[in-house]
Amino acid sequence: MSTKRLVIKLGTSTLTADTPRISRRRMLEIARQVVLVREAGHEVVLVSSGAMQAGRERMGVQKDPRAPLPVKQMLAAVGQTHLMRAWEQVFELFDVYVGQILLTRADLNDDRRRYLNARDALTATLAHGIVPIVNENDAVATEEIRVGDNDNLSALVANVLDADLLLILSDIDGLFTADPRRDPHATLIDEVPLIDDDVRERATGSRTALGVGGMNTKIQAAELATHSGVTVVIANGARPNVIVDAAAGASVGTRFLAQARSVEGRKRWILSERAAGSVHIDAGAARALRQGKSLLPVGVREVVGDFERGGIVDVLDESGRTLARGIARYGAADARKIAGRQSDQIESILGYDFAPMLVHADDMVVLDR
Ligand code: GLU
Repeated sequence: MSTKRLVIKLGTSTLTADTPRISRRRMLEIARQVVLVREAGHEVVLVSSGAMQAGRERMGVQKDPRAPLPVKQMLAAVGQTHLMRAWEQVFELFDVYVGQILLTRADLNDDRRRYLNARDALTATLAHGIVPIVNENDAVATEEIRVGDNDNLSALVANVLDADLLLILSDIDGLFTADPRRDPHATLIDEVPLIDDDVRERATGSRTALGVGGMNTKIQAAELATHSGVTVVIANGARPNVIVDAAAGASVGTRFLAQARSVEGRKRWILSERAAGSVHIDAGAARALRQGKSLLPVGVREVVGDFERGGIVDVLDESGRTLARGIARYGAADARKIAGRQSDQIESILGYDFAPMLVHADDMVVLDR
């Protein structure tokens, strides 16, 4: 069985187990399942809501949508540490470390440099066997820069990470043919091959009392994620073994099928962008690229143009032909300094080290094999 990368979004109603308080018991149950899924060889990223609720709990205040923004920021700041302490405690019982990653919209889709930074942080955390726990950086994310709901945030994270599965857990069993609280004949839809107007219409604005999103934001998120190649499952967080079963591909909740393979999607995007510069490489590096390897600085002879970290570059072989195009991990000025040098010298040359390669194989389309 191959390793799958799972992003699991936990709504506030799931973390409170439908009580007015964050439920350690529920969190422990989630941690138990996450550990089992990891032991089966998969990677798991959690997107945890509940910071605002934990803050209200800590400060002894009720939910008040009209509270001034600075008060909400304060509640998020207090609640986020409270929430993470609870996560740390439950995962510690299984000897698993967690790492907090707070993001805003700008980290995920506006700015390519920040996008790479966010992706590097998440993948490095996973590579070290740590469970990344993501939330929006609510204490500083004001209206213009925030995603606003964790359904969409989790879809962006799944996209950044090329996840195989996004599991959205809340107090709803999935997508129904009609609103099940109003229509006794409503039935659960097992599988949605494609999100169309019909599906969007069924997502009537059901809202939970403590969280932010409803079915609408979940369908929006599912649309975003499936179009970037991620399968999405919306299910009830209270269902026994929901995480273990969803990871194993069992039928739980509603499954939305991925529309394209994400790597292919990214490669299409790389080809559609204009290159901001180019790098000339030697014969050894050209051979490595043709074998599907990354471009290391040691094989770079010359860097032309002015591109930023995250910019698109053409890679030219020793005869000057365009061999590949990809996303640069270092800007042009840095790339010039490390050209021809070994990867383990990057840190001493630049004073930092984003990655051992200039262009990662996953971020590159080889045009001429
Ligand atoms: N970031 C919010 C929180 O931690 C949750 C947003 C949401 O539930 O969608 O409270």
